[in-house]
Amino acid sequence: MQIARTIAEVRRLLGPRRGGPIGLVPTMGAFHAGHVSLFEAARRECETVAVSLFVNPTQFGEKADLERYPRDEARDVAIADGAGVDVLFTPRAEELYPACFGTWVEVDGLSTILEGAFRPGHFRGVATVCLKLFNIVMPTRVYFGQKDAQQVEVIRRLLRDFDLPIELRVLPTVRDADGLALSSRNVRLSPADRERALALPRALATGDVARARALLQGLDVEYVELAPFDPPVLAAAIRVGGVRLIDNVPVGGSRT
Ligand code: AMP
Repeated sequence: MQIARTIAEVRRLLGPRRGGPIGLVPTMGAFHAGHVSLFEAARRECETVAVSLFVNPTQFGEKADLERYPRDEARDVAIADGAGVDVLFTPRAEELYPACFGTWVEVDGLSTILEGAFRPGHFRGVATVCLKLFNIVMPTRVYFGQKDAQQVEVIRRLLRDFDLPIELRVLPTVRDADGLALSSRNVRLSPADRERALALPRALATGDVARARALLQGLDVEYVELAPFDPPVLAAAIRVGGVRLIDNVPVGGSRT
């Protein structure tokens, strides 16, 4: 696996590989089996697999959340290498956001509901960094997790609205044996908080808003809603022991 830290380097590494399909998996690192499922899908479907590892400051509202975000580059490099990734692009913040950076992508409507209502500016940061990564890597396909269902919707809209000739691939949520969706933030849960957090997948598994709300009573719930995505999902966000967790389950079939 080759590691690139600058835009020029990643373009130089990918240049000779442009003959075949290039898959890009955008990530923020702290890899777990959810990330690996995306790497493996890209590996199966593309000649070249590129992964970006960038803890994007512009999608974090709370500075503390950005600072606490788990980082372990050596471990991530080993996992990506083991999964057959060809190129890992891990730029510094100044590389993607040079001085006087001032062009932002706003996805109207989608950015301000559900997650967006609780994390103002989050999807602006996501859409902007993803458009930059797509322009830098120029992938054939991009790989995202259903775990972040609203992010998938934002990316789908971005690809359509900006006429980007990129195929969007969405992979199912990978869960631990107890049902909790894998997340880089789970490492910050104490054993007792983790036990409490299990109410989230259990509530969503009902597939019913009212029953899910009832099962989450007593917890610090931000929202439990049916979201009109493709596919429609029952989505929720809760806070447990200072850790914010999101999850969703598809309800009903695909709209496309
Ligand atoms: P992150 O590093 O958290 O930004 O996630 C990078 C990609 O991995 C995103 O497309 C996420 O939706 C996806 N992802 C995160 N957790 C999971 C999971 N448990 N199962 C499947 N995909 C996931």
